[in-house]
Amino acid sequence: MTDTNAASIERAAVLGAGTMGHGIAHVLAACGVQTRLFDVSEEAVARGLAKIEANLDKGVARGKVTEEARAGALAKVSGATVLDEAIEGVQAVIEAVPERMELKTGIFRELGAKLDEGVLLATNTSSLSITEIADATRHPERVVGMHFFNPVHIMKLVEIVRTERSSDAAAELALDLARRMGKDPIDVRDAPGFASSRLGIAIGMEAIRMVEEEVASAADIDKAMTLGYGFPMGPLKLTDLVGLDVRLAIAEYLSGELGDRFTPPQLLRDKVDRGELGKKSGQGFYDWNREG
Ligand code: NAD
Repeated sequence: MTDTNAASIERAAVLGAGTMGHGIAHVLAACGVQTRLFDVSEEAVARGLAKIEANLDKGVARGKVTEEARAGALAKVSGATVLDEAIEGVQAVIEAVPERMELKTGIFRELGAKLDEGVLLATNTSSLSITEIADATRHPERVVGMHFFNPVHIMKLVEIVRTERSSDAAAELALDLARRMGKDPIDVRDAPGFASSRLGIAIGMEAIRMVEEEVASAADIDKAMTLGYGFPMGPLKLTDLVGLDVRLAIAEYLSGELGDRFTPPQLLRDKVDRGELGKKSGQGFYDWNREG
């Protein structure tokens, strides 16, 4: 790979049409890339394409997207359930299938065998080792992480994650592609939790320890961060929105990789055991039935 300019990307494939995949396909199409949204499930492809259209419609209704841009994006995106069709003629592939290592390595092995070494291969994994995924493929130097945030068409951040074997050209191309997609990327080395989860979980776990030690109420700890540090949302409310079970799983993974400072507080384990999972269960650090 020598070209680091994303303007050279005319065609791309997104693998997995779920929560993240449809959003990634949306922003790729919106910036003029002919995009194939691939999934093993026909329903998932149909649902993904319908969501893209619905989100573009919302954008038009809110005056954020012009009719012309909506039509342009929809004309650039199509679905596929046959991998070979999806990746035909592409210069980039972004994978967003479920978070299972063996699934991702299987896909990257196949992509590596089928695609020319100049094609950028990116994974949207939020926690797995990019190095291990890259090692499954021929030419691991063209593999990077492109970690998008949900909802993809709204959230500005993308973590571009490079392994020790990623070429500078591949990382530069991914950074440029993210910018072309209207995002504000950061350049991160492949390390557990990358930059965002590592810091977010560290703050979240400390906030829970503070509730445990009765330093202040959950609402006041959150206020310390929103009013004192300008966070848009406090770490405990964010934990409720993401799900206590999800945050616990990430903390357990990070404590295994990075040590005791990520060990989940007993209070978090107890709440998860009691089924207090946050907004989705009605109770977490806040009472969501009362909050409405
Ligand atoms: P999801 O379950 O919503 O979607 C995954 C899709 O992949 C499903 O439609 C499924 O049918 C499809 N799929 C399964 N096997 C496949 C295969 N072999 N080939 C093609 N498609 C296949 O999952 P998601 O939340 O979109 O997560 C996808 C990836 O993005 C994961 O690695 C996750 O860790 C990461 N991620 C998720 C979020 C989030 O907030 N949901 C944020 C950042 C990153």
